[in-house]
Amino acid sequence: MNQTNTVSRLFGEHFLHDLNPQELQMLNKVRGLVVSHIGPNAHKVAQKDEFAWDTFRLLADEGVIGSAFPVEYGGTDARQVLRIRIIEELGRVCSASASLITGADLSCRAIVAGASPGMKDQLLPGLRSGQLQAAFALTEPEAGSDVRGLKTLIRQEGEHFVVNGSKKFITRGTTADWFMVVGRLETDSSRFVAVLVPRDAPGFAISPEVDKMGWYGVPISSLEFENVRVPAANLLGKIGDGFELAQDALLRARMGHAAMALGRAIGAVEIAATYMNDRTLFGKTLGAHQGAQWMLSDMVSQIEAARALLTITAQKYDRGDGDVSIYASMAKQQATDLCMKVVTDALQLTGGRGYMKDFPLERFFRDAKLNQIGEGSSEVHKTVIGRDVVRRSSSAQRNPSLREGSLVDY
Ligand SMILES: Cc1cc2nc3c(=O)[nH]c(=O)nc-3n(C[C@H](O)[C@H](O)[C@H](O)COP(=O)(O)OP(=O)(O)OC[C@H]3O[C@@H](n4cnc5c(N)ncnc54)[C@H](O)[C@@H]3O)c2cc1C
Repeated sequence: MNQTNTVSRLFGEHFLHDLNPQELQMLNKVRGLVVSHIGPNAHKVAQKDEFAWDTFRLLADEGVIGSAFPVEYGGTDARQVLRIRIIEELGRVCSASASLITGADLSCRAIVAGASPGMKDQLLPGLRSGQLQAAFALTEPEAGSDVRGLKTLIRQEGEHFVVNGSKKFITRGTTADWFMVVGRLETDSSRFVAVLVPRDAPGFAISPEVDKMGWYGVPISSLEFENVRVPAANLLGKIGDGFELAQDALLRARMGHAAMALGRAIGAVEIAATYMNDRTLFGKTLGAHQGAQWMLSDMVSQIEAARALLTITAQKYDRGDGDVSIYASMAKQQATDLCMKVVTDALQLTGGRGYMKDFPLERFFRDAKLNQIGEGSSEVHKTVIGRDVVRRSSSAQRNPSLREGSLVDY
């Protein structure tokens, strides 16, 4: 244990009991990096709004990026119960740093799952060590929440695939070496195809970084593909697998968004509670006012409930449970909506101080919004969850307190 871990924390350490000694060692390493580098630099990263290469290299060198990669490629293929804790720690101080870990899932897991052996050998060691970067290109001008609107077409021509179309909001567009591009098969639009495109492929254009509200230090771009040819070996999985490969990457990234949001919510409470001790008004500290205590109470109880839900989800993923995707939707929606509320209330509790740009809550407030939109908006996840419950109720055990017969005629 290093010194950073002997100081008690405001939020419970109970979830750490799930981790083995090696996993705890990795988490402690991340905690040390948060104290020594990532926390103190978070404001500067956001101010510069440039990809934080030094943080990326640090997380790669320390094996944190590698936790998303298989052992045979030098990674540690960490369990999700560890990865959500790592992302939470980083999200507590810096969204851009947390996104380097969630981004590794999103952009690389489909390569792990579906690339040819040759492409795996070529790319995975570099992606794991931070020498290379990949991006995940699914969203299009007419296909965001509703991915059925995808218009990018991919056709096979002999030993090549040819890509035509546009993508938008693609994270790491300006820094990635390789792009996982999902489109429809030109000859059968009901089938989705995923291919790997190098950034220097002829006909491939990447826009300059697009300006945005928050998540400074996480660059996004639009992409254009005009008859971009890649070798057949760049196909991920089989023709028709494109969407399934994207879904697994998105599933992991959704847990990542939930963990990042919970980390930020925890950070916001830590900051607000410190302010409440420091600030005196109406003859006593802000923390001694019952109304303010009740706000803190709601925040902390709801954060712990959402952390428990996310932990269950991660355990389900690690066990390979069939219903993990619904739980990932629940965890993502609950954690990200909660984070927005917590950060808003924390900012309220810190008054005008919280509204100033040199105070982290201003940044947390802008960053929180993205977690409710990316990797499926809250509304999309609520639709998925509600639809699943209705579907399953038709075959589930009827509530034993009911008589026989339709409830319409009850
Ligand atoms: C900073 C950032 C980074 C991103 N990075 C990537 C990336 O790396 N790769 C990638 O492929 N994409 C990326 N995206 C895209 C992201 O996944 C989409 O923005 C997201 O899926 C929502 O799609 P949309 O923006 O087109 O919103 P729309 O589909 O236009 O939806 C607008 C809003 O409508 C509401 N809505 C949607 N569906 C329903 C419904 N069924 N019922 C009721 N309301 C609904 C929601 O509130 C939603 O926010 C990124 C986006 C941002 C902002």
